[in-house]
Amino acid sequence: MKKKYKVAKKTIAEGRKRNLESYKRSGVVKAVEVLCADNACKVCKKWNHKIIPLKKAFKKPPLPIKGCCNEKYGYCRCTYVPVVK
Ligand SMILES: [Zn+2]
Repeated sequence: MKKKYKVAKKTIAEGRKRNLESYKRSGVVKAVEVLCADNACKVCKKWNHKIIPLKKAFKKPPLPIKGCCNEKYGYCRCTYVPVVK
């Protein structure tokens, strides 16, 4: 794995964790949906539109997606969408 790629992964992991924390603070978000970009790799696309309970996302963050093979862009930029119910 390239160093640049590792750094991108770490940066994404930190950013996504902050997303989860702000959703938790809101008190109304119960789950998150994974949303992939059109140019996401096939590994990430399998996760597209998966809904994960917030508690579970904290315990085992799905993003950045393990096994992402998008080295061209330095990692897929999959994001969370808050699910309010
Ligand atoms: Zn990917």
